[in-house]
Amino acid sequence: MAKKGPRAKTFAELAGEPTWSETAAVRTGQHAVRLGGTNVAGEFFDPSGNRLALEAADVSTDAAQEALDAGALVVAESCGCGGDFGGCTPVWLSNQQLRSLRGGPPPVFTGSHRAPTWLELWGNTEGRVIYAHGDVSWGGMALG
Ligand SMILES: [Zn+2]
Repeated sequence: MAKKGPRAKTFAELAGEPTWSETAAVRTGQHAVRLGGTNVAGEFFDPSGNRLALEAADVSTDAAQEALDAGALVVAESCGCGGDFGGCTPVWLSNQQLRSLRGGPPPVFTGSHRAPTWLELWGNTEGRVIYAHGDVSWGGMALG
């Protein structure tokens, strides 16, 4: 009797294995990485694509300035939606803008558009991020 070669895997066996397609699904589904944005699952990423975790949902303007002085990045959405809905694109401050704000006066809630306004602190192993929502001005510049 001839020796059998390796039998083909059944569909069930294949489906039970982690495959490239599952990995791709993680990148393209609701958990897709959005550089500097929020995906459908509500996960928020820094501009390098590293997932951020919310550290504080409401920080003071002084605390935000302290975080900035310590090297935090700043991102803003000016409509006050919270940033996790389509149609609102958070704006990240450039390194040059961040440098100009370090050591300066803390941000100001202007109320100029009567948008819901607050500051969040996010972080990951790369660093921290201040997320400014609504009518926030920093260093005389309206954010978002
Ligand atoms: Zn918004």
